[in-house]
Parts: sequence; C-alpha cells; structure tokens
Amino acid sequence: MGERVLTGDRPTGKLHLGHYVGSLRNRVRLQEEGYDCYILIADVQALTTHWDRQEELSRHVREVTLDYLAVGIDPERTTICIQSMIPEIHELTMYLSMLASVHQLFHNPTLKSEAQQLGINFALEGKKGRLELNYGFLGYPVSQAADITIFKAKLVPVGRDQVPHIEFCRKLVRKFNRLYGGGEEILIEPIAMVGGAEGEPSPLERWYWSYRPPSLDLSLEGFLARYTDLSLAEAAGLFSDEASPADSEAGFEKLAQGVAKLLAEHPTESNLPAESLVQWAKDELIRLREIGAQDTKGVLKGITGDEKMSKSLGNVINLADDYDEIWAVIRQGVTDPGRIHPTDPGRPDVCRVYAWHQVFNPEGEPTVRHQCVHGLRGCVACKKELAARVDEILAPIRERRHQWEKRMDEVDEILIEGTRRARQVAKQTISEVREAMKINYFSPARVAAD
Ligand code: SF4
Repeated sequence: MGERVLTGDRPTGKLHLGHYVGSLRNRVRLQEEGYDCYILIADVQALTTHWDRQEELSRHVREVTLDYLAVGIDPERTTICIQSMIPEIHELTMYLSMLASVHQLFHNPTLKSEAQQLGINFALEGKKGRLELNYGFLGYPVSQAADITIFKAKLVPVGRDQVPHIEFCRKLVRKFNRLYGGGEEILIEPIAMVGGAEGEPSPLERWYWSYRPPSLDLSLEGFLARYTDLSLAEAAGLFSDEASPADSEAGFEKLAQGVAKLLAEHPTESNLPAESLVQWAKDELIRLREIGAQDTKGVLKGITGDEKMSKSLGNVINLADDYDEIWAVIRQGVTDPGRIHPTDPGRPDVCRVYAWHQVFNPEGEPTVRHQCVHGLRGCVACKKELAARVDEILAPIRERRHQWEKRMDEVDEILIEGTRRARQVAKQTISEVREAMKINYFSPARVAAD
C-alpha cells in the first residue's frame, strides 16, 4: 500500500462538476495508483456554516457517498468515514487548539476570503456581517489539522487556495512534536499535493493544436523535429519560470516561424491574415506562458462567468444531472463578447465555454480553438458540442449512482465499515498523543476494569 492520502468534503448537498474536476477524478486516480486513500465526510465542519440545517445532514452524507461510489471510489480500497463518528478527531482538535494562536487564524487568507464569500463578519469588533463569526468557523483550520494528523496522512491533495491550511497544519505539527515528542515524530507533517488535474494540455500543446490544421496528423514532437531545431524538452522549457527572456524570445521566434512554414505548406481555410501570422503565433505563445504561470489547475470556474459554481448563482451541474439540466446551464455560458457573427475570428482564451472544452473535451479542444480563432464555428454549436461531451462523461456516473440508490442499505454499511476502520487508526494515534502529552494517568487495563 502506498502513502496515506487524506481528502474530504463538507456534506452540504450533491457533488457537482467542480468537485469532479477539482478533486474526485484525482481521488480515483490516486486509488488506482495504489495510495492508501481516506475520504472524510466532514459533517462537523459543515455545521460551522450550516449549524441550523442539521436535519439535512443525514441526507447530504448519503448524497456525497453516492457521488463517491458513482465516480468510481471503491470502498474496498478507499476508506470512507464520517467525522462526527470519530471522537478522537475532536479530542485531538482540542489539544491542537492550545497550540494555535487566534492571531494566526485571523490572518489566514483562505479563512478570510471564505468568510467574505459567506457574508461572515470576520472581526471581533466593527460593523456586523450578514452572519456573526462563530468559534467553530474560526477554528476549523485546527479541526482540519486534526482530521489530517489523526490518520497520519502524509499527502493532502488541495487546490491552491487551501495551501495556507496545510501550512498551518504543518506548523502545528512541528510545534506539537517539538513540545511533546522528545525527538520523536508523534504527528506527521503533511504535504500539500497542489493541483492534480490530469490530462490538461501544456501551454505548448495548446498553442500547437490551435495552429495545426486539424486534418494534419502530425504530433507536436514531429512538428518540432521537422519545422524547428528544438527538442520537446527545449520547447517546453521556454514556458518555465527559469527560461531567460532572451531564450524565450529566440525560442518563440523559432516556433512561430515553424508554424508559419507548416501552414504555408498546408494552406487551410482560415480567416487569419497570412502576413501577420508569425507575430500572431508569437503573441499567442507569450500570452499562454502568462496563463500557465497563473496555475489554474484543478479549478473549474463557473461557465456563466462567475469564479465558482454555486446553487445560488444557478450555474451548478450536479454529477446526477441529465442532459436537459446540463444544457440549461451550458446554454448560459459566457463567450467572447467581441464576437458578433460566427465568421468573426474569436478569442477562445476570454471564453468560458472554451475553458470548459479544455477540461471536458481535450480531444476536440484543438479543433474548437482552431475553428474559433479562424471564425469557422458558431457559439451555439460550440455550446451544444460541449453539453454533449459533458453528458457523455456524466452518463456512466449517473447510471452507477442510480444503481447504488437502489442499495442504500449497502451504502450505509460502507459508511459504518469505513468509519470503523478509520477509528482504529484514530484510536492508535490518540493513544500515542496522550502518552506524549503525559495525560495517560492510568493503564488502559485498569481504566477498563474500573
Ligand atoms: S466559438 Fe466557442 S470558443 Fe469561440 S467564442 Fe464561441 S463559444 Fe467560445
């Protein structure tokens, strides 16, 4: 069994495409690669913002479990467990909270921005927000640190916005081990696995695919060998932070000249002006390098132009949705506002529909890009193609979910068994923690006898 990995979700409803792209498909990959995966359903954490919706929790716990099983999480290989049923987590949260300063929590950028999005007044004084800051919300990074360390998880896949929480957890662990460990590593410092989106084309691939005539069966390596004197590693290196501006400039010139030669040999139906093609291709390379530097991996922005998917924004596609529900959201997709007619050359990189093609339609994306840039496709057809592709991806997930819905007793068994397994690990950790903290006053046998 590989390294232990911890992931989890707050059960606040069905999981959606954003969860799928941001974490679920990566969890399945980790499971397939043999990691020792734990998924924690963080129902107590859900209460930090949904404390008055406790009646929904039970349903939501089962909804997310159905979504896990539907995407391919195998309960034999991945331990799915419920946070509130593992009291050792709450005990460890309390111990760790002694080591966490309120100042640190108030300066946690992720907590601050989440509070802002939720309308929570993230201050002890001053004007009131829509919701008052509660102790549980302020302290949830401590509870998250306990979630991770109780299972001795080494790896935690997270989006970039969650990295401050992992850093905070690492600081707590270091402090704990220094204070109580006596040179031993009682708790394990976790490592954040940032991003994790698979199959995403590199900026170089994206650039090449958008210029290559779709009918031409020539790989990127083939193009580099035939039309430039750059190796794949050299060309990819032009996008790295370490490439000097002069090297990038010279390399981009070679790539742009190469693609101009390629297109001259294979004249295609195109609205791109031939005389400015080299400059155009170079500008595109520079812009893609900038986009690459922003590291948007693992984040699916709302197709309606919003930063996130959210029920209140009406832009959510749940994993359980059918084609009509998918289309109802995708048809509202934001496109290039500068485009009036389907024959106008478009700018895919300002189009959210295109961003989704990159994620859900990687094989078709080069054609989408090429046709958009060259004014060869309309936006409605483009959205329809995307909706069909998303539906194709969700169809087997929907079907598996449907099958599991008929076996809810088994779903409950999976949760009970997973939690039981997880609790064994948690009990062992908490016993080591108590021993290190010297709060194990009596032998377990004696306490049991009493
Ligand atoms: S054709 Fe497609 S990629 Fe281009 S602007 Fe329209 S929706 Fe976006």
